[in-house]
Amino acid sequence: ASIFSAIAMAPRDPILGITEAFNADTNPAKINLGVGVYYDDNGKVPLLECVQKAEAKLMEQPTPRTYLPIEGLGAYDKAVQELVFGADSAVIQEKRAVTVQALGGTGALKIGADFLKRFAPDSQVYISDPSWENHRALFESAGFTVNNYAYYDAATHGVNFEGMLAALKAMPEGAIVVLHACCHNPTGAELNADQWGQVIEVVRANNLIPFLDMAYQGFGDGIAEDGAVVRRFTATPGPLLVSNSFSKSFSLYGERVGALSVVASTAEEAARLLSQLKRIVRTNYSNPPTHGGKVVATVLSTPELRQLWEDELAGMRVRIKQMRDELVKKLAEKAPGSDFEFVRKQVGMFSYSGLTKEQVEKLRAESIYAVDTGRICVAALNSKNIDRVVDAIAKVL
Ligand code: PLP
Repeated sequence: ASIFSAIAMAPRDPILGITEAFNADTNPAKINLGVGVYYDDNGKVPLLECVQKAEAKLMEQPTPRTYLPIEGLGAYDKAVQELVFGADSAVIQEKRAVTVQALGGTGALKIGADFLKRFAPDSQVYISDPSWENHRALFESAGFTVNNYAYYDAATHGVNFEGMLAALKAMPEGAIVVLHACCHNPTGAELNADQWGQVIEVVRANNLIPFLDMAYQGFGDGIAEDGAVVRRFTATPGPLLVSNSFSKSFSLYGERVGALSVVASTAEEAARLLSQLKRIVRTNYSNPPTHGGKVVATVLSTPELRQLWEDELAGMRVRIKQMRDELVKKLAEKAPGSDFEFVRKQVGMFSYSGLTKEQVEKLRAESIYAVDTGRICVAALNSKNIDRVVDAIAKVL
C-alpha cells in the first residue's frame, strides 16, 4: 500500500453541496439563495464598467508580466491603505501602517494568521458565533485553538450584545479577536456605533489583538461608513490587523484581490513587521499576481474610474436594500401574522432569515436552495424571482 492509501476523505464544504444540488436540478425556475456572490437584477454576476474601462486602459500600453514585489504592487498597497484607513489617516502619514497585497480576503486572513502564530504563538483565537465558515478552519490550519464569542441572538434576529461584551471581557490578555468590520457574514446582524465604541474599549483595556475582516466594504451603508470601525480602532493605541477584499466590491472574485494591513506603534516597528510579512508571503507563493491588483489600483487612482466604481458599488448596495424591502413587504402580504421586519435592519449581502432546517428542506422541493442555517443571499433575489421565493416561503412557514 502506498502512503496515500490510508488517507481519509476530507469533509465536504456545506455550501458547495448546495451548489452541486442546485446544478443537478433540471427545473428551469430553480433559484440558488445559498451563494456568497452578488448577482444583478438579471441574475448575473456583473462585470463592472469601471473594471472594463481600466482593463481597456491597461491594454493600450501592455506591459510585460514581470514578478511583482513580494508585498505586491506599490500603487495598489497605497490605494488600499487610503480606502481602508481613510486618505487623511494618521497611521498613513506616520508610516505606521504596512500593507501586503493578498490572494483575496482569504489570502489576507491566512498571511495574518501565520504572522500571528509566529509572534503570538500561545494566543487563542475568538470568532463570532456564528461566523464565515472559513474563519475557524483558517486559524486552525495556522495552528491556533479557535473559540467562539456570543454574537447572534435568534430571538431578536440581531446581536446578543450583552453576551458578546461579556465574552470579550472574559478573554485572556493577548487573545486574538476576529471581528467583521461591516456586513456580518452569515447573519447580517450589525453592531451600532455606540456598541462598537464599547467593543473597542474592552479590546484595548484588556490588550486583546483585534483582527478586522472587511470583505464587504461599500455593501452596507457606504464606503466611508463601512470603514468607520477601522478608523475608530486606529484612533486608539494598540495593534491592529485588517484584511480586506475586492472580490465583492469590484465583482472580481476570480482575480483574487485583497490585502492585509497591519498597524504598528511606530514607523520603525512597521518596517520590521513588513519584513516579517514578506517572509511569510515569500515562503507561500513568493509574490502576488499582477492583473487584479493593477485593475483595482487603476480604478482607485483614476478620478473618473473611481467615481464610476463608487456609483456602480452604490448601485449594488441600493439594489440589495430594495430586495430587503420587497421581501419584507411581500411576505407581510403573503404570510400575514409572520414578522420579517428584521430583514430590513440586517446589513450587507446576507440574511439569517429565521427559516429552520426543515423549512429550508421544504423550499428545496420547490427548487429554491438556501443554507441549512436559514442564511439567504439577498443579492441573489431579483425582480423576476422574488415573487416565487415569497410564495414558497409563505407556503413552508
Ligand atoms: N471574509 C468574509 C467574512 C467573507 O464572507 C469572505 C468571502 O465570502 C471572505 C473573507 C473571503 O473573501 P475572498 O473571496 O476575497 O477570499
